[in-house]
Amino acid sequence: MQWPILTIGNVNLNRHRRTFLKALAACPLCAALKVEAQESRHWTYEGEAGSEKWGELDSAYQACGTGTEQSPIDIKSYQMAAIEDLKFDWQPAAYPVANNGHTIQINVPSGSTLSLGTEQFAFRQFHFHSPSEHSLNGERSAMEVHFVHALGSKKFVVMAVLLKPGQRNETFATLMGSAPGKLGTQPISQPVDIKTLLPASRAVFRYRGSLTTPPCTENVDWIVFENMVEVAQTDINIFKLIFPMNARPAQKVNRRFVLKGLI
Ligand SMILES: [Zn+2]
Repeated sequence: MQWPILTIGNVNLNRHRRTFLKALAACPLCAALKVEAQESRHWTYEGEAGSEKWGELDSAYQACGTGTEQSPIDIKSYQMAAIEDLKFDWQPAAYPVANNGHTIQINVPSGSTLSLGTEQFAFRQFHFHSPSEHSLNGERSAMEVHFVHALGSKKFVVMAVLLKPGQRNETFATLMGSAPGKLGTQPISQPVDIKTLLPASRAVFRYRGSLTTPPCTENVDWIVFENMVEVAQTDINIFKLIFPMNARPAQKVNRRFVLKGLI
């Protein structure tokens, strides 16, 4: 999960704030991003404001330090189970691609949804991490994509797909080809069908977790696909050039259990 903020690595990007806000003004979809950017506190993945310190940076980030259902996790043991009825309706579109200082994120216009059981969540945005945040049997992959769905502001379903080097994926290539190297947004060169970032096999792991960035809010229903999707190494390199490391380490599983099933 990803919330925007004005830092990158150990570099404070507040001096780029004007450029950032100007970019947001040109992007009506990013109005929510602007509000969050103003409220957020400085955090990074490494160094003084790194992931081990998030819980101490701001009282609003307390769950990052004291939460018992945090994400990501290493998935190694699970129970087979029937997964609730899950349906998603994602509209293909030419979404603008944003660099928010922590990741490359695509904000999805309203209209795309995900239904889980009797609840309907709005598909808000998707974004990328490198290396992957979740690991399978202790092994991380090159990257991970998170599809974030929300019901109000405190209840989430995030679908996660691990990405590995291999065959070129046109959607990923198009997105990385439009990824801004600095804070701001860039239009996409052609419309993409986001579903092509999902694996053909619908085997998934499901567990209760949290946002993987501050404020680390718990109440996230994680759906992690077992199978990875191949993308071109050259496209992974584009992302890594902008964000060499934007993954939170695995958190304790504690008393949680992981379910495995088909969606
Ligand atoms: Zn994420």
